[in-house]
Amino acid sequence: MMKVERGEIFSRALTGRCPNCGQFGMFKNWFRLHKRCPNCGMELEKEESGFYFGTTSIGYVLSIILVIIPVCILVVKDMLSMWVGVGIGIAGSIMLCTLLYPLMLSWVIMLYYVVQADELPINASEQ
Ligand SMILES: [Zn+2]
Repeated sequence: MMKVERGEIFSRALTGRCPNCGQFGMFKNWFRLHKRCPNCGMELEKEESGFYFGTTSIGYVLSIILVIIPVCILVVKDMLSMWVGVGIGIAGSIMLCTLLYPLMLSWVIMLYYVVQADELPINASEQ
């Protein structure tokens, strides 16, 4: 029996809270996590390179879908000039990745711990 079910992990991490204790405070700043949760002490460091890599990958994919493809369509339809399109594409991708970074990082953490719910310290201690 798991103390924290997958649905609970999902809703906690999706809103930027610690999947283990449900408290806010995992984020050290916009782009980085604390090494450990300041509330429950869960290690975030162990997987952090994987979390950041996953977040960057999601950022690329979202940029392509939400920025690059629409800009390309506008350029092809002659609604934007080539170089304005390139400028919007670059600036838009950077803005999107920057603004959504903490949100995407939360999604990656959410996915990781929903898949491996029994790795949460609070669940592992039950075994
Ligand atoms: Zn915690």
